This record gives sequence, structure tokens and C-alpha cells, in this order.
Amino acid sequence: MDYLPVFLKLRGQRVLLVGGGAVAARKAELLCDAGAQLRVVAPERCAELAALCERVNAEYLATQFAPEHLQGVVLAIAATNRPEINEQVSAAGRAVNVWVNAVDDAPASSCLMPAIVDRAPVIVAIGTGGASPTLARRLRAQIEALLPERLGDLARLAGAWRVRLHAALPHPDERQRFWENFFDSAVAHRLLAGALDADAAAAAGLERQLEEARAGGSATATRGTVWLIGAGPGDPDLLTLRAQQLLQQCDVVFYDRLVPPSVLARLRRDVERVFVGKESGHHRTTQARIHELLIEHARRGRRVVRLKGGDPLVFARGGEELSALSQAGIPVVVVPGVTAALGAAAAVGVPLTHRGVAQSVCFVTAMGEAAAALDWRSLAAPLQTVVFYMGASQLPQIVARLVQHGAPQDRHAVLVERATLPNQRLIAGRLADIAAQAAAASIGAPSLLIVGDVAQFAGQLAAGSGTGGG
Ligand code: SAH
Repeated sequence: MDYLPVFLKLRGQRVLLVGGGAVAARKAELLCDAGAQLRVVAPERCAELAALCERVNAEYLATQFAPEHLQGVVLAIAATNRPEINEQVSAAGRAVNVWVNAVDDAPASSCLMPAIVDRAPVIVAIGTGGASPTLARRLRAQIEALLPERLGDLARLAGAWRVRLHAALPHPDERQRFWENFFDSAVAHRLLAGALDADAAAAAGLERQLEEARAGGSATATRGTVWLIGAGPGDPDLLTLRAQQLLQQCDVVFYDRLVPPSVLARLRRDVERVFVGKESGHHRTTQARIHELLIEHARRGRRVVRLKGGDPLVFARGGEELSALSQAGIPVVVVPGVTAALGAAAAVGVPLTHRGVAQSVCFVTAMGEAAAALDWRSLAAPLQTVVFYMGASQLPQIVARLVQHGAPQDRHAVLVERATLPNQRLIAGRLADIAAQAAAASIGAPSLLIVGDVAQFAGQLAAGSGTGGG
């Protein structure tokens, strides 16, 4: 190890920053965040740096660097674009035992600035010993995606309880068990998901757990939670960050037909996977049985994920699962997903709303008897987009009803099969011919019908360009 990582407490300490450009401004920002008192030395400075100096009341010397500028500082950052000046700062720093970082110049530096993932008070610092700042930045992006946004809240809560816990549970082992239990607990997970207000509810959870720990129990705080997670329309890169984090942390996942293997591949290797799709083996898993399974596994203290295609609260019976779990007293956290309509629209370049063409968008399902109950007159009205889920087999009936209720035969429509998946197919047409075209191409499930004149734009964007612009 060529460098030892340490965290410097800079609050109230004087730090020298040499340089007046954009790079210096970025470093200044960081130093101020850490509470340092800045001394900026540069013959000229950019507007951004000037504004920052003004705001934090920094000392500014409009001159070239000289060794006496190091007086009283604990750290110096050389951020000029002139290597010889950076070298001067470095040499002067060495002479008086002040740590010097020369930006992007490891040989001239006695310390390096890491790439940072900031979930204060949790800070992850990534260094490559100066070998590759770009690699460090890439690693940072990966770690950013892994760490929950509210990790800092959790750490702060734990920090606020430290002293109290020390008194309540004198044994280090006891305390460690307590915290392990707490970080696994529903309360902690709900806090991370933003489903709890940090102070009030979380503190109540801690209070309860402490009572249990005092009573000698091994804490029922590990009582399982169920996460009702939307897996998105199919492409695993469309999982949300939170979904990905949870897929790495859960113990068991119950999934159905719409969740493709490429999404399941994102699960931690040793997670138990249970298929509860419509035809699982020879028997059908009923909705009631799914509820039982979720409750049973949660009661065993497991971290249970219920993974559904698209969004769990859009045509997915997520509401029923939510209420069954709440009735059983099991904590539930919902993680939204990209619903198929949004995935399909993006994948084929159909704006669901478009100035002058569609002012609203409506998601419907026209399956079975439910179809008769729909307000077809309003679905047939102009200036809107109607997206039909689960419509592939009903296509002729859907089209006939729309036309019967006043939709013109030449209204645009597209059918998207397996949207966002590798073998996605698109059929573009008009109400007059879309059903015949779909039959000719043997379009199957899952597919989605988008009706409305926005459908005329389908395929005009470069397929798979993924820019999402416009
Ligand atoms: N909860 C899901 C919908 C489940 S209903 C969501 O929010 O997307 C199942 C229907 O969703 C399918 O019949 C089909 O109409 C649609 N669907 C789901 N994934 C799809 C995909 N990748 N491509 C096209 N349609 C899809």
C-alpha cells in the first residue's frame, strides 16, 4: 500500500489553494464543504471562484505563489495549469511539512485527493494511487449506484443513539448484535426507502428493539419485510437503482412470467428464486397462495422481494398484495418500476403526449368482461393516446369497439411486442388494418397496443439510439 487513506478534519483549519481557474473553483467548493478556511492565491480568478470566496469570506491574495503563503496552513492544494508552479508549491510544502496535493500530478503530491461518494456522514473515498483518475471516477459511479441515497440518515440515527446504547447495553457483543439486527430491520429499510420519517418513526423502532434486547430476546426486529418491486418492461438496465440494490440484499424473490432471465441475473447468486407465474409447473399459483407465501417467508424473518414486470401497482394486483400484507402486519415497501407503456413508447419513439396531437394519455386493459364496462366513447375521442395492456388476443374486438364509438378508421395505432427486450417487434398501422397486420405477423404476448395519432411517429427515432431526447 503506497498511500494510507485518512479522513481529515478541516473544520476551522486554514488551507491554501493555489490557482484561479475552474479546477481550483471545484476544489474550493469541496474544501468549503469540509469547513476549511480558505486562503486563495492566484494573480487572477474566475467568476465562479470569486463568488465562492465572497460567499465564504475566504482570504484572497491576487499574486503569484510564494512560500510564505504556506504559513499557518495544514494542507495545500496546487490547482494551476502550470506544472512548474505546482512543483514550487510542492517543494515549499515539503520544506515545512505541509501536505500538498497537486491536482492530477501524483509525483508532485505528498497526498492524493480521492474520488468521493458522499452520503455524509458516510463517505466512500476511492484512490488509485494516481494511476488513473478516470478509473477512480468510473468506480465512483458504480458505488454511487449501489449506496442508498438516505444512507446518511441511517448513519446519523445510529450516531445519535450511540451514547444511549452504550449505557443500555454495556457489552460490546450485545451492542454489535443490536446494530446488526437494526440494520437488517424493517425500520432501517423503510427509512432508506423514504417510507419513514427519520426522527420520529425510526426512533420509535429503535426504542422497541432496545426493549426487546434488554428483555434478553434476540430481537424480533429482524422480522421480515416485503418489497414489492417493479422490474420494468424487460431490459434489465431499466431497473431502478433501488430495485438493483434490493436485488443484491434480499433472501428470497417471488417473480412471475413477465420477469425475464436477464433481470433475474441481477440477483445476488444465493438468493432463493420462486416462480409464481400463472403456470408454475403443473399447478397454478393462486393470488391467495401468493399472499400466504409472502407472509410466511416474511414471518420467518426473511427479506422478501415480490418482483413484478413493469410497475407493481399498474395492472399487477399489487394493491391486493399490499393490503393482504398490511392486514397481516408485515411491513411493505413499494419500489416503482417503468411500466410497459412507458418502456414501449420509449423503445419505438412514440411520444405519449404531443402538442396538438395528444393532450392526455390513458392506460387501460380490455381483458374479458372488464372490456364491456369501459367507457368506449371516451376512449374513442380524439386528441389523446390510449394504451391497451393485455390486448394482443383481443385486438379485433378492441378495434371494432373503438370504431363503433366514433374513432376514425385512419387513426394511427402501433403494436409493440416484447418491448425493450432483444427481439422486440413493432407493427405500425391504422385502426383499419392493425389487427390484420398483427395476425399476419403472429404477434403474441406480451404486447401492448398504442392507439392515437402520436403513433404516426413510431420508428422515426433511430431505434435503440437510447438518447431519450426531444
Ligand atoms: N405491471 C405491468 C403490467 C402487467 S399486465 C406493467 O406495469 O407494465 C401484463 C401486460 O403488460 C401484458 O399483457 C402486456 O400488455 C404488457 N407488457 C408487459 N411487459 C411488456 C413488454 N415488455 N412489451 C409489451 N407489453 C408488455
